[in-house]
Amino acid sequence: MELYECSLEELSGRLCRREISAVELTGAVLGRIAAVEERVGAYLEIDAEAALAQAAAVDAKLAEGRQTTPLTGIPIALKDLLSTRDFPTTCASKMLAGYRPEYDATVVERLKKAGAVLLGKVNMDEFAMGSSTENSALKKTVNPWDFSRVPGGSSGGSTAAVAAAEAIAALGSDTGGSIRQPASFCGVVGLKPSYGRVSRYGLVAFASSLDQIGPVTLTVADAALLLAGIAGVDRRDSTSVDRPVPDYYAELKKDIRGLRIGVPKEYFAAGLDAEVESAVRQAIAVLEGAGARVVEVSLPHTDYAVATYYLLATAEASSNLARYDGVKYGFRAAAEGLKEMYFKTRSTGFGPEVKRRIMLGTYALSSGYYDAYYRKAQQVRYLIRRDFDQAFARVDLLAGPVCPSPAFAFGEKIDDPLAMYLSDILTIPVNLAGLPAISVPCGFSGGGLPIGLQLIAPAFAEEPLLRAAWNYEQLGGFAGRRPELARAGEVQ
Ligand code: GLN
Repeated sequence: MELYECSLEELSGRLCRREISAVELTGAVLGRIAAVEERVGAYLEIDAEAALAQAAAVDAKLAEGRQTTPLTGIPIALKDLLSTRDFPTTCASKMLAGYRPEYDATVVERLKKAGAVLLGKVNMDEFAMGSSTENSALKKTVNPWDFSRVPGGSSGGSTAAVAAAEAIAALGSDTGGSIRQPASFCGVVGLKPSYGRVSRYGLVAFASSLDQIGPVTLTVADAALLLAGIAGVDRRDSTSVDRPVPDYYAELKKDIRGLRIGVPKEYFAAGLDAEVESAVRQAIAVLEGAGARVVEVSLPHTDYAVATYYLLATAEASSNLARYDGVKYGFRAAAEGLKEMYFKTRSTGFGPEVKRRIMLGTYALSSGYYDAYYRKAQQVRYLIRRDFDQAFARVDLLAGPVCPSPAFAFGEKIDDPLAMYLSDILTIPVNLAGLPAISVPCGFSGGGLPIGLQLIAPAFAEEPLLRAAWNYEQLGGFAGRRPELARAGEVQ
């Protein structure tokens, strides 16, 4: 197996034992990028020179026998909404063309401190709004399993990069499913941590009460290692929570006998693709075979989640995106006076989906409509959270599909925003309730497209979540599978 194909867990051990050097590993990943990136299109910006310099610095430390972390020397890609000091951060928007932040996001700072090698920035839906990465204003990213299909979104660059072995791991962000859904479409592991587990400082805000940064990896163990490297309180994010970060990796490989797993009946409702349903039900049977006790549960307000989310997320986005006025960041349109400058900058700098959401959100927040829409949505959000509380009074985890279908074709939903929004029905409730959840590969469609199993835990119960996912991964038979890029291209 080539170095770039190995898991973070394995590479970490080999680096630590000094069987390989960080420069060798980084060189191998950069070589892989050079070979396949033209076809996959995951990256917006690559910094090969800086990556090799970081790797050389790591090697010098290793030679001195200095203490390392599991991320030392590991090449990692970053979703392009994580601020990187003096390095382009575009959110895949024309609006941020030429913008180089003054500072690193907390997660970037932590990765650097841990000795990770940062490869560059990967593609996404503009400002993380979308489910297919088709809303990127800068580039097309394909699904490495089938180039005629979307990689999912909004973290489609992160999941395509990991699936195509163009990075050992990546960070993404998940506001309504943007880590889990593209992970399931690309056949990799995607973890959305509990709200408050990872600092959002330096994450360009979309919907602040929902956004959370998390790992995209080849395996569950890799996700545990990467989460441990980025989690923890940060005084610069008042919503980050001051709780100790457990050693997720140490807890991972214990068994799950007696663990109670609830299967929400609403997650298997009409509209669920038959192949997805059968793969997910088989995965749940595997967990049962490993000693988990499986029961059916109900989350009765599931049907309201998409409407609630698209009110709250757009309301928050309309406020968060008010800062792009042509003065403070990136793009400014040529104009006669100030008002015209604002108008032209915002109408030409943002793409259609972003503008649609700013308008929806502004409408929902306007006086006279606030009570009917925003306040009502907050009330329903509470009911959705209560559904989970009631379920978790009976079970330890929940299991179900990630998305009603496998990866769809380019163009299939882009002209029908509502169809695109509805594909988030199974991931959005988790964000509204602030819970951790993971997508783990659990099968393939007849057409060879990956399918993901979603596991959901109570807030801050990442340990049992990862343990169940790891146990499933060992028994399920779908861990670490790679697409054959040559074949994926033929399908087109
Ligand atoms: N697809 C959802 C949306 O378009 C979720 C996006 C996300 O999680 N960032 O809003």
